[in-house]
Amino acid sequence: MPSMGLIVQKFGGTSVGDAQKIHRAARRAIRAKLHGQRVVMVVSAMGRTTDKLVALAREVSSTPPKRELDVLLTTGEQVSIALMAMAIHEGGHEAISLTAAQLGLMTDSVHTRARIQRIERQRLERELEKGRIVIVAGFQGIDQAGEITTLGRGASDTTAAALAAVLRADACEIYTDVDGVYTADPRLVPNARKIDRISYDEMLEMAAAGAGVMHARAIEFGMRFSVPIHVRSSLTDVHGTMIMTETQGMEAIAIRSVTLREDLAAIFIIGMSNDPGLVSTLFSEIAKHNIVVDDIIRNIYDNGQRANIGFVIPAESSAVAREVTDRLAKEHGFQSVEHHSRVSKVSAIGVGMRSHSGVAAKMFQALSDAGIEIHTISTSEIVIGCVVSSGDGPRALTAVHDAFELSNPNGAGDAT
Ligand code: ADP
Ligand code: ASP
Ligand code: MG
Repeated sequence: MPSMGLIVQKFGGTSVGDAQKIHRAARRAIRAKLHGQRVVMVVSAMGRTTDKLVALAREVSSTPPKRELDVLLTTGEQVSIALMAMAIHEGGHEAISLTAAQLGLMTDSVHTRARIQRIERQRLERELEKGRIVIVAGFQGIDQAGEITTLGRGASDTTAAALAAVLRADACEIYTDVDGVYTADPRLVPNARKIDRISYDEMLEMAAAGAGVMHARAIEFGMRFSVPIHVRSSLTDVHGTMIMTETQGMEAIAIRSVTLREDLAAIFIIGMSNDPGLVSTLFSEIAKHNIVVDDIIRNIYDNGQRANIGFVIPAESSAVAREVTDRLAKEHGFQSVEHHSRVSKVSAIGVGMRSHSGVAAKMFQALSDAGIEIHTISTSEIVIGCVVSSGDGPRALTAVHDAFELSNPNGAGDAT
């Protein structure tokens, strides 16, 4: 008998937002089962449940212990897996819901942003052999000591991709409230266009640059284990976006998408003495607070005597970084320190950048034509990012999207 295919289907919060939607998702899984597939579902908390739980925790405590936050937040997924199993039973099929602890989805012990270390297959395989649809709680894990962990906001995608990888699934389907990955967030750029196929590298950069549609670590699993990921709508049957290994044609387009991050801050130090030891002190003091630094720019003047340094950090770290830099400014006589507690970063992404020239020039021109000042610029092989004032973010996104004609299916993404 030919071995049955295996499919992982993940349903995000809006796709299980009420009883009717839960039934719709259940019917989709049943349909795959009737087509001869073994089905593992991964389900997020209903609607905005996780946001509400976070808000509730903050009402009770200004600094909720992370262990307790994890115990609280994982309840959202426990509700939706149970309801999903009920909906499948109601549809006349067998299903079982499993929490991370029941399944054996092991993580490290970093509460609120744990990483998956190992997934036990026995229980999963046993249930699948019984012909059941297995419904796994997304976003959660358990550490060696049996403590409940979570994998970071939006990480049900990662649960799904990791399960698809260990089970050697034929596909991982991500059902969401958009019908695929777009050239920009369609909520911010209404004429953004759906992308049919995108490489893991591009999607990973998009996720890192703020495209909330997929959790970055999910893409890493897909890439490492060559699991194609299909991002698609839970409301329709139209083909969505395949995230897959890069194919030759993909480089023909210089820019695939434009993203915006609005949760950043920037610090500019003016007139510090140009001493490599001092630069090292600055960044090691910042690192002591686990602050992730990005986009460092430095220029030297006064015959090599003095330097200006600017860098970008997550907005949530801005207050701590301010304390550190203000203290160093006093100790080492910096001329001044400018703090921008909110900045935005617009990033253009595409593997075609490797073989197309003029991409940066076109992006800078687009921002300049829109009268938007660029604070810092960063480039890597397939990304160009410009930090702009926070009020300019959405306009910068549209300006760059328009400049590369990303809404036009023919002229897409060219630098010329
Ligand atoms: P889910 O709850 O299903 O995980 P998310 O809210 O995490 O859904 O992700 C879907 C949302 O991602 C969309 O509603 C859309 O606004 C946003 N998004 C951001 N960037 C993009 C993009 N480039 N393409 C598609 N959607 C995007
Ligand atoms: N429910 C979790 C969150 O809102 C995980 C997810 O939806 O992927 O972040
Ligand atoms: Mg999501």
